[in-house]
Amino acid sequence: MIRISNYIDGRHAEPSDGAYIDDIDPSIGEKYAEVPDSPPEDIDAAVSAARDAFPDWSTASPEFRHDQLIRLSIAIEDNLDRLARAECVDNGKPLSLACSVDIPRAVSNFKFYATAAMQFASESHSNSGSSINYTLRQPIGVVGCISPWNLPLYLFTWKIAPALAAGNCVVAKPSEITPMTAFLLSELCSEAGFPEGVLNIVHGTGPKTGAAIVKHPDIGAISFTGGTKTGEWIASEAAPNFKKLSLELGGKNPNIIFADCDYEEMLETTVRSSFANQGQICLCGSRVFVEQPIYERFRDDFVRKIKALVVGDPLESGTNVGAVVSKPHMEKVLSYIDLAKEEGGSILTGGERVTLDGRCENGYFLRPTVIEGLAHDCRTNLEEIFGPVVTIMPFEDEEEVIGYANTVRYGLSSTVWTSDLSRAHRVAERLEAGIVWVNCWLLRDLRTPFGGVKDSGMGREGGFEALRFFTEEKNVCIKYGD
Ligand code: NAD
Repeated sequence: MIRISNYIDGRHAEPSDGAYIDDIDPSIGEKYAEVPDSPPEDIDAAVSAARDAFPDWSTASPEFRHDQLIRLSIAIEDNLDRLARAECVDNGKPLSLACSVDIPRAVSNFKFYATAAMQFASESHSNSGSSINYTLRQPIGVVGCISPWNLPLYLFTWKIAPALAAGNCVVAKPSEITPMTAFLLSELCSEAGFPEGVLNIVHGTGPKTGAAIVKHPDIGAISFTGGTKTGEWIASEAAPNFKKLSLELGGKNPNIIFADCDYEEMLETTVRSSFANQGQICLCGSRVFVEQPIYERFRDDFVRKIKALVVGDPLESGTNVGAVVSKPHMEKVLSYIDLAKEEGGSILTGGERVTLDGRCENGYFLRPTVIEGLAHDCRTNLEEIFGPVVTIMPFEDEEEVIGYANTVRYGLSSTVWTSDLSRAHRVAERLEAGIVWVNCWLLRDLRTPFGGVKDSGMGREGGFEALRFFTEEKNVCIKYGD
């Protein structure tokens, strides 16, 4: 039985109150590790270590920070297979996905922000002959990073890397549901001789350990990715203390398919954008709107392709769809399928739990589910399900589908399929979303701003946006003439 430990001030330690919770492998439905449920005292210790490390780390040269982050990226790359397997076991995702997406992206996150540390610059405003203003962008101090379970190491490092690159010291908490790769990262930090106290990883549940991060008076900024309800609570706690906040929250993304699209490419990509990672990517398109002339063709082809997806042991190479992350999550997704039926939806494929033979007989597997016949504004189409479930709906014209797309409280991402360039621009401009993909999905360039509008969050990650978030601007005004 693996016992995960906290990583505070460069040392691994048990939670100070000795409390642990179970870490379940969702593909077999059994406990395989224990994870600390750390008390606020452990956050105090982590903050204190981070505060002590801050003077040296924040004044180190950009090149020094670059070198340290590169060492972490190399350490992750060297351990890619081990980390991918750990992610697969902890989360239930196919090993092939962890190998090709999750862990390579964690490598890229550190590489990208190592380089960004060397490139980041600030502005100056000159009044010729009289004065100059220049802007300092200074690290905040100790910052908190809290991440979810769906892309564990990928999203954990997406926060930590820019926070460190900007010169902050970090207290970070991964999801208690998928803590393993963050723990392995802490071991890699030790092995790589990463400076003590600069990165502290404390494990535990949200209301106990996460809340202690949010409430800590010496943590000046919180970068959070997770559910909208949690984000709402964090915002209400952080606001009276004037903490900087970056919130990446839920989504209910539209995938809008016009009849003039490149049909084959759209179809292939829509299978992925619907069910990659068991539909547990905040960017998955869960509402698929198809223009009337191709609706029936699309429905038949799509359902045929979805039926052919292999639901299986995440460790097997032929598996397309692994386990969903936990039993409660599986039950939540099934309850939405029941709701869809009550709301008049027809299940075209899926709609049920899958029981596999052998090793995974007690795992949490769901058949990818496609539902039609629902109104665009029923609960199934308004609330985030975050599982292998999509609804498909026909539409008549551009105006109508923009209205449907924008009905929800969320506004994270959207996808548009069309070969009409003018329409692509028109629709992209009017969609209420932080990200619009045209004729593609999840094509990421780490320099771009990433985040959502409305209930999908506030602030942007990515590129220099994240470095701006993790720094405070100070304007210095110098008069040197009349
Ligand atoms: P969650 O909100 O339950 O938990 C996220 C993290 O917050 C976990 O580490 C959890 O322990 C912690 N947490 C929970 N309560 C807390 C509290 N009171 N104080 C501090 N921390 C607390 O979300 P989840 O179920 O882990 O993740 C799924 C959600 O994340 C979905 O809604 C999904 O859309 C969203 N998500 C959004 C993005 C994005 O970029 N916008 C990316 C991935 C996932």
